[in-house]
Amino acid sequence: MTESHEAIVIGGGPAGLTAGIYLMRAGIDTLLIEKIISGGTPLNSWNIENYPGFPDSISGKDLMDRFTAHAKNTGLSIKEFSEVEDVSYQNQRFIIKTTDALYESIGLIIATGTEPAKMNIPGENEYAGRGISYCATCDGAFFRNLVVAVIGGGDAAIEEGLSLANIAKKVYVIHRRHALRAQKILQERAFKNDRMEFLWNKIPIKIGGKDQVEYITIEDTKTKEQTDISTDGVFVYIGARPNTAFLGNLIDRDEAGFIITDEALSTKTSGLYIAGDVRKKTLRQISTAVGDGALAAVNLERYILGQK
Ligand code: NAP
Repeated sequence: MTESHEAIVIGGGPAGLTAGIYLMRAGIDTLLIEKIISGGTPLNSWNIENYPGFPDSISGKDLMDRFTAHAKNTGLSIKEFSEVEDVSYQNQRFIIKTTDALYESIGLIIATGTEPAKMNIPGENEYAGRGISYCATCDGAFFRNLVVAVIGGGDAAIEEGLSLANIAKKVYVIHRRHALRAQKILQERAFKNDRMEFLWNKIPIKIGGKDQVEYITIEDTKTKEQTDISTDGVFVYIGARPNTAFLGNLIDRDEAGFIITDEALSTKTSGLYIAGDVRKKTLRQISTAVGDGALAAVNLERYILGQK
């Protein structure tokens, strides 16, 4: 049987939850479908320092628990542990197929965010969960007083590297250039941290060990010299890949796979709006995801009212 709603939001991170809140407050019957649990990528952040309203910072989990509680207070239904496999558009209705159900709606907001990019080097899959991680908040505690390597030079690598430095005895930051991409305030903190050592102009080549990770082989981008660095863990933060596979040709993507929208956050398919990190945009933050969620919801509300 097909369950019917006026609007469906796919993805329960900051963008999706905000869209849900705005739609429910506009009196639109809305269902939010989430692959895992409500909260999205910020659940993996130890500390959020740049979301206004929390001058002493807040953990990603605490912040997203507040988003979720707020969304539930509006009456929003959130279906967790439900992965969308396919979306089609027929007779001005979206048909959404998940692993265990079928839904239809007049309008749809995609807020599926991103997943961590992989290094695609030997040993990466073999040692996943045995020393390789993409989430310091989830796995950092296993590395108390041990040595870890963080790969990348963006906000995520430096922010999570700083958190790991509170637990591990040493944090190598392996970066492919000689300048970080991360926000200046994070850079300054990292450069002052005695437990963090920067290995510049280096790329990961191989992960090795016996049962667990024991070393990472890195290559100098200029001299091509290869070195083995002893480490107990490798945390990978080399960017994010958008989750759009289930959308087929309903949208246009840029060369990196992010969804292209217009200023109204709409797409070439009527009634299909995009919000948050999955969208082609210049700044991916909780604050910009929230803005996207609100705008997509208000524009979808107008569309739905026009359809009735
Ligand atoms: P990112 O900003 O894209 O940074 C990825 C880093 O990995 C860059 O330093 C990049 O090097 C490096 N890299 C990329 N591909 C690589 C490869 N194949 N091998 C080795 N290194 C590679 O990604 P992110 O740090 O995961 O952040 C994702 C988005 O979330 C960003 O928009 C970020 O601003 C946002 N974010 C914000 C916060 C915050 O505001 N507190 C926290 C976390 C994430 P290059 O610098 O040379 O390109």
